[in-house]
Amino acid sequence: MQGLVHIYTGNGKGKTTSAIGLGIRAYGRGLKVLMVQFLKGTETGEMKTLQKLAPDFQLYQGQKIKKFTWEMNENELLELKEVQEKIFEYAIKETINNQWDLLILDEIMGAISMNLIPLENVLQFIQSKPLHLEVVLTGRNAPARLVDLADYVSDITCVKHPMEKGVPARKGIEV
Ligand code: ATP
Ligand code: MG
Repeated sequence: MQGLVHIYTGNGKGKTTSAIGLGIRAYGRGLKVLMVQFLKGTETGEMKTLQKLAPDFQLYQGQKIKKFTWEMNENELLELKEVQEKIFEYAIKETINNQWDLLILDEIMGAISMNLIPLENVLQFIQSKPLHLEVVLTGRNAPARLVDLADYVSDITCVKHPMEKGVPARKGIEV
């Protein structure tokens, strides 16, 4: 089966959870799923669930981010960039030998728009990926050149979100 490329973008809720949903479906069919998460600061519910599905569903996050980027000094920003680059390199290294069937690059659009991962490197990876590998990329503001390369593009519109009424992130629903 030839692997295709998915993008889940837009301002509405449901990008990461959709990617995990697809991963769960793939896992159920015996496919091996690697999910790497860029720019993750907090512990999330999915981490605990996915640990139970290891080793055929693996979640890789690099290290936790403790500050907002606008609070970071130059060194901290450089360190953040290095960690994000490592996550991307890990994904490339792991998938190159056909060890995985589905790769989820969660919030990679965020890492691209913050100039932590060069768009060119992501485009190059997508164009040279193993033929059978299915790839999902998530995050707001998907660059047009990535959208052009993808086979499935879902743009999730935000009609309403409780955060607009000041409701903070709820455990088990947002994190
Ligand atoms: P989820 O992980 O619930 O599928 P997501 O991946 O679509 O959400 P992100 O853009 O990664 O959402 O946003 C991270 C956090 O912001 C999540 O906790 C999410 O629920 C929340 N969020 C998503 N959409 C909005 C919105 N329109 N306004 C405010 N917060 C939002
Ligand atoms: Mg997300």
